[in-house]
Amino acid sequence: MRRHRRVKILATLGPASRDEKMIAKLAKAGADVFRINMSHSSHDVLADLVSKIRAVEADLNHPLGILVDLQGPKIRVGKFAGDAVELEDGARFTLDNDETEGTVDRVYLPHPEIFEAVEPGHRLLLDDGRIELKATAVEDGKIVTEVLHGGTLSNRKGVSVPDSLLSVGAMTDKDHADLLRALELNVDWVALSFVQRPEDIIEVRKIVQGQAGVLAKIEKPQAVQRLEEIIKLCDAFMIARGDLGVEMPLEKLPGLQKRMIRTARRFGKPVVVATQMLESMISSPVPTRAEVSDVSIAVFEGADAIMLSAESASGEFPVEAVETMNKVAVEVETDVNYPAIIRAQSHQPEATAADAISAATRQVAETLDLAAIVTYTSSGSTAIRAARERPYQPIIALSPNIRAVRRLSLVWGLHTVQMEESNSLEGMVDAACAMAYAEGFARPGDRVAITAGVPLGTPGATNMLRIAFVAQDGKGSS
Ligand code: PGA
Ligand code: MN
Repeated sequence: MRRHRRVKILATLGPASRDEKMIAKLAKAGADVFRINMSHSSHDVLADLVSKIRAVEADLNHPLGILVDLQGPKIRVGKFAGDAVELEDGARFTLDNDETEGTVDRVYLPHPEIFEAVEPGHRLLLDDGRIELKATAVEDGKIVTEVLHGGTLSNRKGVSVPDSLLSVGAMTDKDHADLLRALELNVDWVALSFVQRPEDIIEVRKIVQGQAGVLAKIEKPQAVQRLEEIIKLCDAFMIARGDLGVEMPLEKLPGLQKRMIRTARRFGKPVVVATQMLESMISSPVPTRAEVSDVSIAVFEGADAIMLSAESASGEFPVEAVETMNKVAVEVETDVNYPAIIRAQSHQPEATAADAISAATRQVAETLDLAAIVTYTSSGSTAIRAARERPYQPIIALSPNIRAVRRLSLVWGLHTVQMEESNSLEGMVDAACAMAYAEGFARPGDRVAITAGVPLGTPGATNMLRIAFVAQDGKGSS
């Protein structure tokens, strides 16, 4: 199975997509990575989904990535007597450490760290920003606020504090337990929600120990401010527009998205654009024009992956949503303006052999109009550097390491296959040509570029570029 696009599709699984048949349909329609959201999944559901995805992967003989999204320190208010209250503009409303049920004057806030972080003048945004409060006084265990924008506030609604830096790490006890379970299940990526600072990533990396890729969700202004430091430490990141759009003015999102995608490209870190991409398809089989345009913008910018949330997790048309993303992506990537837009954002290679070889390979592949680039990669890092060049030719990444193969399913332009390395250079050239042929990327007589590390089997040592003909028998001849 091969895709006819470079951008990858990440589909969230949920009640609408929990059975194996549906997961297979989504994969066939174009889903490359499946997201399991731990805000809504028990450990049993997680284990069940992982085994179903692996079954589909074996069935389709095509690597599929699994991303486990940790809930993170999502702050919520307590409960109300009567389940909800109506907050009037201009009223006084207090959040405190009193566990009793809330009233129109006050509610329990079960997060002690907030009382230390909020200062008078800071905003508190409730229920995805529908309600806005301003702190007027902060005392021990008590935040007194003025209601700037009122509305109905019901039990356990989320609270954002965009102006305050919380002293909590990015992981709660629940996240910790979820993370350990995810690692036991050999998932490929773990996503960390509400990252605030670089230390949050370091904390997770210590536990993950390279067993999965670490993806930082950028959904707080504090993380946007320290984006470069954060992305240097993580393996990929997500522009999590849902919560980001609550914590920052919505009109700032498009510019920020562009800047973040460009920063990702500069550092060679995969980036996912997420949330509301095809929101109306939760209940409609066709998207709006604006949604199609939104998806196309992420693709034109060269994002590594675009994501579906409720559209595939709980919507009525999960398969149609994946098909729509696939169609839009294929169309954009064959648009006359696409290559020039992608090229305009290229950056100098860094001073490493892998980058120098990747840049040279792109040049050679374009000058000679080669059929494909075949990259031997053991950890996957060379393949990511090859993708950073955003070459026009397809990239086939070959790795003996199934973990690397699956992890790379999130990365722009990579068609990844698990394959043992042969023990001679000629064997590798032949195998690369054979793979390009077998996977439908090259015909006899076509030429491909091959990169590898010599001596063979040394990770992180890419230093060779070869050009080879695909022979009549589908193997290599140079
Ligand atoms: P969520 O993250 O769906 O887990 O909230 C994505 C976002 O906030 O955009
Ligand atoms: Mn979020």
